[in-house]
Amino acid sequence: MDSRLAEFGKGHKAFQKIKFNENKNRFKKLVEEGQSPKALFIGCSDSRVMPAMITGSKPGDLFIVRNIGNFVAPFNPDADYHATASAIEYATSILEVSDIVVCGHSHCGAIGALYKDIQATPDNIHTIKWLELGKDAQKVALLAHKHSSKEILLRYTEQISVVYQLDNLLTYPAVKRRVEEGTLFLHGWHYDIENGNIEYYDDEDFEFKELGQKDEHDSQ
Ligand SMILES: [Zn+2]
Repeated sequence: MDSRLAEFGKGHKAFQKIKFNENKNRFKKLVEEGQSPKALFIGCSDSRVMPAMITGSKPGDLFIVRNIGNFVAPFNPDADYHATASAIEYATSILEVSDIVVCGHSHCGAIGALYKDIQATPDNIHTIKWLELGKDAQKVALLAHKHSSKEILLRYTEQISVVYQLDNLLTYPAVKRRVEEGTLFLHGWHYDIENGNIEYYDDEDFEFKELGQKDEHDSQ
């Protein structure tokens, strides 16, 4: 075995022995009946964000798409390849999930990069374009917290960005239609990797509140 990934090999063996066995019947059922996930989880690619771990979800519960900064590009039907848009469409129209979570997180490198002067090169051309999806949030955050500490400014940008991505979700026809029908619910979360807490965006009180005290199916 490739010694560079030996620890993953060991981890996989442990998974087969313990976790796979524990979930054997569940996996069998998921193969026989297909998946029927509860939610689409749009998260950051950051290695410190573990969707299944932080939500206590089991195999088959979450349909996950991750990208740099947990951004949602606005609906833009063209001939290009759109990975996140495709996952949104598949989850919304084929799997018919009842909930979509956009989960931002603390210490996000993508949000931090908005405040750095990064020169475009052939090595980062897609990243620089992708980070444009955080610019609106950055503008609002700077208006509110230009003179606050960097930490406050960054946490605030991460949270505002989540709210903007929820708006972008509504540009997808199937998402908008199902939200209006009351069969799809959107949620904005912010996960703090330092203390393990998740907060959700309350669109009636316009603030982030601790998850766990949340009523089921509160919109956003
Ligand atoms: Zn991130």
